[in-house]
Amino acid sequence: MTVAQVVARAKSLGVRGSVSDHISRDAPTTLGSVESIERYLDALESYDVLRGGEFCWHDALWRELPAHVVRRFTHRLGSLHSIRLANGSFFRAFSAQLPAELTAAVYMEAHVSSMETLATDMPVDILAHPTLVPPPFRELDPHELWTEALEERAVHACLANALVFEISARYPPHERLVRRMMESGVRLSLGSDGHRPDQVANIAVPLALARRLGVCDDDLYDPTRHGSRTGAFDA
Ligand SMILES: [Zn+2]
Repeated sequence: MTVAQVVARAKSLGVRGSVSDHISRDAPTTLGSVESIERYLDALESYDVLRGGEFCWHDALWRELPAHVVRRFTHRLGSLHSIRLANGSFFRAFSAQLPAELTAAVYMEAHVSSMETLATDMPVDILAHPTLVPPPFRELDPHELWTEALEERAVHACLANALVFEISARYPPHERLVRRMMESGVRLSLGSDGHRPDQVANIAVPLALARRLGVCDDDLYDPTRHGSRTGAFDA
């Protein structure tokens, strides 16, 4: 879709949208260099749309962006598309095959530990799809994956680093975790994570969850009101 189509689609759904393409050397995207990122921002600046970007924590590109480029983003998202295992190696969160030693408990310990490092190291605003796990684990009851102790650690990581927790339409978090985030004072964001035209700007499912929990619209993250670690709104 063109930017104009994305903006029109969001408007038709009554959504104030942002474009948040993948920006990484290890994701299906062409945004893998500082030059291409500047062209992306040039394009978005012609439209009335927030300028986001979803960066892979495990890829170094976000570390290489000069401050003047970072400031052009209205906000940024950080993702655990790969997590770091206890032995220091990285493991892709999209892997359909899991080695036998990578049990759900071992994986989740590494997932939350990676999240804690992302939260302290990565100057992003939103933690994208915080409950993304490899396909075999998606079949399990999330309460089997997430112990309350792991949830508390995730809450602390977000709270201590002012990281916004995304309710993703693509990888919906379970209600208990979202409630724990909300009750602890972690700000929430609604994400379509749209990869197809019919998914773009469709936040119906995340919105319904936020409504069920009594989240006010004004509490939802809005970079223009709540600011951004990119510095876009600093005087
Ligand atoms: Zn992602």
